[in-house]
Amino acid sequence: DSYNMAYRDELTGLLGRRALNERMRGLGRHYSIAMLDIDHFKKFNDTHGHDVGDEVLKLVAARISRVAGGGTAYRYGGEEFCVVFPRKGSDECVDALEDVREGIASYEMSLRDHSQRPETSSEGARKRGGKAAPKTVKVTISMGLAERSEEHASPEEVLKEADQKLYRAKKAGRNRLSY
Ligand code: GH3
Ligand code: MG
Ligand code: MG
Repeated sequence: DSYNMAYRDELTGLLGRRALNERMRGLGRHYSIAMLDIDHFKKFNDTHGHDVGDEVLKLVAARISRVAGGGTAYRYGGEEFCVVFPRKGSDECVDALEDVREGIASYEMSLRDHSQRPETSSEGARKRGGKAAPKTVKVTISMGLAERSEEHASPEEVLKEADQKLYRAKKAGRNRLSY
């Protein structure tokens, strides 16, 4: 319907930037925001192709959307996601985020067969050696987390702080949370 058209990201089905902007206006004085970013995703696309990249984005988005702790996931853009935790300090969000990170890192993602369709079924069976071994891939994510404080008093500032923490997580070796 028209709400989904306007507020949901088409690829992942997650809420998008517009929904996030509206959410940020009504957060009050006690909340945390996390920024999440897939590690080395450009290289992943270069290696596996953009279609596989899209498929992985969907799988990663589905995992992030199931975050615990009352968090709501948004696709911020590209391979970047945002989770808003209302009424939570950052200490109270760590376990939920670490569960997401570990779940993604250990998740063997099965992919559809992106190779050329064989002309005949017998040739397909020969190419697969009789049994199709489904291709699996793995990715990791890095995360930055910040809470609302006197120093970071607006949602924009909290998000900016979370993004700086994310940068630190990347610099520290990726596949980790910085807060
Ligand atoms: P880092 O670990 O530092 O985050 O490295 P990175 O390669 O993930 O970061 P960079 O910002 O250089 O590249 C992001 C890449 O994400 C670029 C683009 O290929 C890919 N990407 C962004 N949006 C999409 C999308 O919708 N689909 C696909 N398949 N790839 C996307
Ligand atoms: Mg990025
Ligand atoms: Mg990235």
